[in-house]
This record gives sequence, C-alpha cells and structure tokens, in this order.
Amino acid sequence: MVAGDNFGAIKLAHSIERAIETIKKCQNCKNLSEHELCEICSDEQRESDKICIVSSGKDIIVIEESGFYHGLYFVFEAIEGDDIDRLKEMVKNGVKEVIFAFSPSIQNDALIYFIEEKLKEFDISFSKIAQGVPTGVNLENVDVLSLSKALEARVKI
Ligand SMILES: [Zn+2]
Repeated sequence: MVAGDNFGAIKLAHSIERAIETIKKCQNCKNLSEHELCEICSDEQRESDKICIVSSGKDIIVIEESGFYHGLYFVFEAIEGDDIDRLKEMVKNGVKEVIFAFSPSIQNDALIYFIEEKLKEFDISFSKIAQGVPTGVNLENVDVLSLSKALEARVKI
C-alpha cells in the first residue's frame, strides 16, 4: 500500500466523522441540517404558507430536485413523541395548506387521517400527492418527473 493512499483514507475517515458530528435535525422541520435551522426553514424566499409532510429527510431531497415545490417541509416520523406538537408550532405561523407527500399505503392513509384530526383546530386545507406514485413504492425510488406531476396534481382531501 502506498503511504499517500493511506493518508488519504485517514483524511476521508476524519471528514466523514466530522460530517456525522455536525449533522443534526432542524429544530423546526426535522430535516437534516448542519445548523439549528435547516437551509429551507431559514430561507425567507420560501412560501411559508405551505407545509409538505414527508416521512424522511431523503424525501425532501427528492422533492427539492423536482424544483416544483417552494414551500416548507416537515419530517413526520412517529405518532408517539412530539412530532405533532412541533408540527402544530409550524402550522400556527400562517400555514394555509398542508400537503401529504407519503408513499401511498394503508398505514400512511391512517397516518394522514391521524394528523388531519390533530390539526382540525386550524383553518387549513389538506391535500395529498396524486396517485401518480405507485402504491408501496418509496418516494426516493420515484422518478423526479412523476413526483413533480403528482405534486402538481395533488388532490384535496
Ligand atoms: Zn427546517
């Protein structure tokens, strides 16, 4: 093994370590972030009256790639814990539309119903991405074009 390569490998290991240490979850939306607030939450150009609820930070990357959506996000991971309270905090700040971008499944339909019930007190409309996304397929495996179409053709619920 060449000494130089070894040094490179150590350097790479260190930078991965550093990246893992500095990545945390956005205080607002739980997107992965290097700062207290993620890039999306701290961007004042975003349409702050829309929240797109996704089930993982990876889905945010996919939707951002589509370039179609300019609102905020929320990563909803569990009905236990404080996800609902965090979401309410965000919705309180002038949100008018909540879009569910979950992959279609019976469990996720139940989750949508649960979240809707919890947000009943707010004057907001709910929609979910259109059925262009096949049932049981993760959003990260859906191509960007179908995802943008599904977002564009989102249906009121
Ligand atoms: Zn955020």
